[in-house]
Amino acid sequence: MDKITRRQFGTTLAKGIGGAALVAASPVNCMVSSANQKKRLGIALVGLGSYSTYQLAPALQDTEHCYLAGIVTGTPAKEGVWANRYGIPKENIYNYDNFDGIANNDSIDVVYVVLPNSMHAEFSIRAAQAGKHVICEKPMAMNVAECDEIIAACKKAGVTLGMGYRLHSEPYTKAVKGFVKDKTFGAINYISADAAYRSMSNPNQWRLNRKLSGGGALMNMGVYAIQSVIYGTGENPISVSAQEFSTRPEYFKETDETITAQFEFKSGAIGNIMTSHNVRANRLFASCERGWFELDPASTYIPLAGRTSRGELNFKQESQQKLQMDDFASHILFGTPNVAPGEMGRRDMVIVEAIYESIKRGGQKMALNFEPTYGFGG
Ligand code: NAD
Repeated sequence: MDKITRRQFGTTLAKGIGGAALVAASPVNCMVSSANQKKRLGIALVGLGSYSTYQLAPALQDTEHCYLAGIVTGTPAKEGVWANRYGIPKENIYNYDNFDGIANNDSIDVVYVVLPNSMHAEFSIRAAQAGKHVICEKPMAMNVAECDEIIAACKKAGVTLGMGYRLHSEPYTKAVKGFVKDKTFGAINYISADAAYRSMSNPNQWRLNRKLSGGGALMNMGVYAIQSVIYGTGENPISVSAQEFSTRPEYFKETDETITAQFEFKSGAIGNIMTSHNVRANRLFASCERGWFELDPASTYIPLAGRTSRGELNFKQESQQKLQMDDFASHILFGTPNVAPGEMGRRDMVIVEAIYESIKRGGQKMALNFEPTYGFGG
């Protein structure tokens, strides 16, 4: 198969994505950009678990438009370790109790919430009330009502809300969005997305505790599968039907192990997802009128890989988290699109709730009523 490079797909990317580079090149944005070119946003990470430690903090060492300015942790022993490793001044270190004092700290512009799911709403709202822009990890919250509260708090405070949906800043995913927008392979007839892993070796982890996670595989990797069928068709679904499978009930006592769901789209496209905490799979595949495209893996950190009926995709591998945080900072600094706004996180939570409801009702088809572009980012 021929390799398809970024240059060959350049037209598709430029036309279809409208990403940061393209927007920054316009005369208006050049003016905004030169006014802000020395400014970088200070980010404070809330929750210093594995994602902050091994992905976000290292990525923040390479970002262009933001940097690691502060930390918020409930574990005092981490304060000194992080301060030494990243040169974080004492006044930029907070715990969960004194966190609200961040309102008086001008060196922190953005609060990035990287806590167990049950804590996303509380800390996103407190961050907004402190006047800070918010990045919230996936899933946005425990339910749609909490998503609404986060969105309302950010609106009221006049701060920007973005989701930690790193794939929207990543070149393979951007290429897929470009194929869909440009109809490179014609209409999408069928799309399937699997997002699943099998590394549940610690039975005491919060992801298996319903009070902290809100659910199992669906609340975790399932969000990626839902995302995939939406950006892989360019449409919000109009219905979903779902099934749950349990093979290790003694281990997955409180949370879902494996879920499948089928989607209908207004265009006639059909979608199918599988998410699991007990199966390994990570793939997006679309069968189209004039060919197909596939990412496998489709949602791991790096490296993603992809191919199409016309050849292989071959993009530069970069930290997705670096690209994501720079995209968010660019939105605030230069007015480029917010590629993963809070409404996108809320839309996905509406779908999560519909999937759980469908399972409860024995697989009944649930109607979904989104505006056609509701939740789509820039
Ligand atoms: P983790 O278990 O490694 O870290 C959780 C952090 O929260 C720890 O620092 C822990 O001390 C703190 N914490 C505070 N209260 C806690 C409590 N009651 N129970 C357990 N921990 C508590 O988790 P993680 O993998 O870093 O995930 C954090 C968030 O980031 C989750 O919402 C997860 O979905 C999200 N995440 C996103 C991605 C992505 O690719 N976007 C990847 C991994 C995790």
